[in-house]
Order: sequence, then C-alpha cells, then structure tokens
Amino acid sequence: MKTDTIKKYNIPIFIPHEGCPHSCVFCNQKKITGVQTSVTCGDVEKIIEDYLTFLPKNNRYIEIAFFGGSFTGLSLDVQESFLKTANRYGEFADGIRMSTRPDYINDDVLRLAKKYNVTTIELGLQSSDDEVLKLNEREHIFAQTIQASKLIKEYEINLGLQMMVGMYGSNPEKDIKTANDTANLEPECVRIYPTLTLSGTKLEELYRKGDYLPYELDMAVDVTDKVMQIFEEKNISIIRVGLHSDESLTDGKSIVAGPYHPAFKELVLSKRARKMIENDIIAKGYKDCVYEVSVPKSSVSEAVGHKKCNAVYFKDKYNIDLKVVER
Ligand code: SF4
Repeated sequence: MKTDTIKKYNIPIFIPHEGCPHSCVFCNQKKITGVQTSVTCGDVEKIIEDYLTFLPKNNRYIEIAFFGGSFTGLSLDVQESFLKTANRYGEFADGIRMSTRPDYINDDVLRLAKKYNVTTIELGLQSSDDEVLKLNEREHIFAQTIQASKLIKEYEINLGLQMMVGMYGSNPEKDIKTANDTANLEPECVRIYPTLTLSGTKLEELYRKGDYLPYELDMAVDVTDKVMQIFEEKNISIIRVGLHSDESLTDGKSIVAGPYHPAFKELVLSKRARKMIENDIIAKGYKDCVYEVSVPKSSVSEAVGHKKCNAVYFKDKYNIDLKVVER
C-alpha cells in the first residue's frame, strides 16, 4: 500500500533585531532577513494567511516560525501577543517554532511557549568554545546552551540548534568539536552556517584590518562535510546548510568576504560523492575508460556534481567518462 509522505513547511516571520540588544561581530540581522521594519501582529496575520493560500492542505506539517531575532528576548507581553496571534491559526498549522539565544531561556518564557503550543525552539549556539564566543561578542558561554537545551527538553518542546563554521577565532578542530558538543545535546534538528563577512559588521572591520581570515570556499566545504557527518551518524536532522540566497544577500554589496555559494550544501555533497568515486578509481587503478556508478534518484545530481563539476574533474584528471545511472 502506498503511503503519502508528510512534507514539512515553515511560515517564516522575520523579526529583525527585535528583542536583541547584542551586536555579535558577524551579525547584521537586518541584512540577513531582508526586513528592516518592526513587525506587528497585523503583519503576522497577513503573512500566515498569505502562506496558507498556497501551502498544501493535506500531507503536510506546518509550523509558524518566528525567525531572525531573539524572540524570547522580547518582553513577555509582546511575546504573548505574537504567540496568541499565531496560535489562533492552530486549525491550519501544526505548531509554532522560534529562534532565540541560549541565555534567553528560562521557566517564564518556556511556560508561555507551552501555553501557546510552541513545538520547536532553536538556539543559536554558534560555537561550544567559550573563547570563540567571547571574541565574537556573543555574551554567553556554552554552559548556558547546555542548561537551556536541558530546560527546553524538560518542557517537552523540540530542540533545534544552530552552529557556525569558520567564526572569528575558530579553526577546523574547534568547529568539529562544536559539532560533537552540539550532537551530544541530542537536538531534533540542526542548522549549519559557514561564517560570512557582511558589510556594516564588526567582522568586516576585523577582516579589513587583516585580523580575521575567512575560510576559503573549499575549506568551508571540507569542514562542513565533516560537521554534517557527525550529525548524520547520530540521525540528527540537518535542516539547513548555508544561508538562504535572497536578494538582500546577493546584491553584490552585502557580502564582503567568506565562503558564500548559492548552492553550498550541493557543493558539499558533490565533493563527498567525488571523494567516494575517486577512492574507488584509485583502488582499482582505472583511467581512460567509462566509469559507471548507480545511485538513488535523489543522489544523481550529487554524483554528477554541481554544474557537472565531478564529470569534468574525472575527465580532466583520469580521462574517465563518468556515467551516473539511476538505481
Ligand atoms: S544575538 Fe542573534 S540577532 Fe542578536 S546580534 Fe547576535 S546573532 Fe544577531
């Protein structure tokens, strides 16, 4: 018997810098979200209603998602008015999710979240290295992430965690340790963001002075691959790799430096596939031939590589014609 799979959707409501008195060196939240004005409950209603007109009615799991700022840093009254508004759509949406900082989690905000059916809370932990957190002016330490993660689970709310790769003061070893420390907190899902140097941030100043050297794209791809494998081994869902490529980021002025690519995750998976194929080619001593690999439909583009980069690579290096067939 055929069973339709449930597809997950978010109705994203971006709250730029609302409730956030910090200025982490890498963050220009207004640029990231593309939204520069304050959001009202009327805006929340309109966004939800617009999305509901085109999201499927069946076989879907919808969460209304407050992203962008530090939701639980808002006053409890403001949080309540947003949550009450979102919760009115409980007949159409399956839950509410929000992103916030680890040091903004306490019993008061979790009681409120529970009252209005918040299903998932995502914490931006960014790094598990306190020195890196300090250099990036995060103003919290990793112990607070551990504490907040435990508390969220005690309230039976799904935990999501967001980490960064290549932060100021970090290195591949620290990034991999962060991934292991993050996985040990047993989140339901994670997001992985390679650090970008955005205009108007303190990171831009550090970069221009030569104090911060961003990862090259290739290095960010390699480190992210290792980080992803840590989560994959523990069956932790990776719901995002790299920032969304919206117009506010790709206007040619917003990203000053860093490993930005509009299909960053695809690059990681392409390179992973390339390594596996190359190991086999080397082990068997193949060259000047056709190499056929059979993969599931969903992995065909990874095997061929982003813009056929793997096919070109094997042709150039081994005079091998890569033939990818669907399993
Ligand atoms: S806490 Fe979040 S929203 Fe606030 S400055 Fe830092 S990264 Fe940006």
